[in-house]
Amino acid sequence: MNSCQYRCDADAVRRMAADAGASACGIAAAGPVGDEAVEQYRRWLSAGRHAAMDYMERHCALRDDPRELFPGTRSVIVCAFNYYTDEPVSLPVALYARGMDYHYVLRQRLEVMASRLCEEYGGQTRVCVDSAPLRERWWAVRAGLGFIGLNNQLIIPGRGSYFVLGVILWTGVAQTTRPLQGGDCGRCGRCVAACPAGALDSGGAALDARRCLSYLTIEHRGDFPPGTDLCGRLFGCDECQRVCPHNRHAAPSKIAEFHPSDEFAALRPDDIAALSSGAFKRMFRSSPIYRCRLAGLGRNLKMLYDISK
Ligand code: SF4
Ligand code: SF4
Repeated sequence: MNSCQYRCDADAVRRMAADAGASACGIAAAGPVGDEAVEQYRRWLSAGRHAAMDYMERHCALRDDPRELFPGTRSVIVCAFNYYTDEPVSLPVALYARGMDYHYVLRQRLEVMASRLCEEYGGQTRVCVDSAPLRERWWAVRAGLGFIGLNNQLIIPGRGSYFVLGVILWTGVAQTTRPLQGGDCGRCGRCVAACPAGALDSGGAALDARRCLSYLTIEHRGDFPPGTDLCGRLFGCDECQRVCPHNRHAAPSKIAEFHPSDEFAALRPDDIAALSSGAFKRMFRSSPIYRCRLAGLGRNLKMLYDISK
């Protein structure tokens, strides 16, 4: 495609993204993700580092090219939303899970943005917020948002990594934004050294989910593997981001939904232990914590505090 043929300029898309509450937005031309990325992903799968997330083995053709996922896609619009919060809470819960579930928050905002895009420039869209086989971080790098750190997180220069990504696949053509030059986090190694579970690799191999406390406390079903130590985490883990120098100047999110409510901030382990399934649903239905169900949260509670539900 000739770069002069775009119908929507990148600044117009970025303004819409900013209106939706995104802190950063980039655009890449749709196409295959490239052999190197495909190979890396396959190696990660064959090493079993995706743990029991079998769904990651499926739909590889769709994952490798968003035009297979949403036929007619010509532009991949990647938006990053800040979820950082510094309000104190009682429970050791990862920052992203202290407010509302980003799947709801981002989808609502990106659907509005996608409608505006179609009204103003035509075409069709599909909004993806961790809901489809799509290489969100690869596309974020491709669209110039940042680079992938040794901690496996997307790092946005000057802003850090406390961001969640949402993608709009669009059949229209937008001006693309360029990948950053020399994208490298600096490889100070602090994340690898700080990881309490040895899930990161100083050589840059992708995360080993089998060890990662974020995976184990959220995604893992059933009993923990023998020898598991949650190292003080109840739900999720931020350690490899907390120690990263790129997050030194992380600023609190302007998105109110990502901040903890007073009720959540005051919750103590005994309060969780006392929850009925109905009360759990009422309290966490809109929270990322709902993902691990009451059984998973109870299992984590028992392991961490020796409190039974
Ligand atoms: S802690 Fe250091 S090595 Fe790890 S992602 Fe941050 S800059 Fe890179
Ligand atoms: S989230 Fe925690 S356990 Fe997982 S890689 Fe990062 S520091 Fe390690």
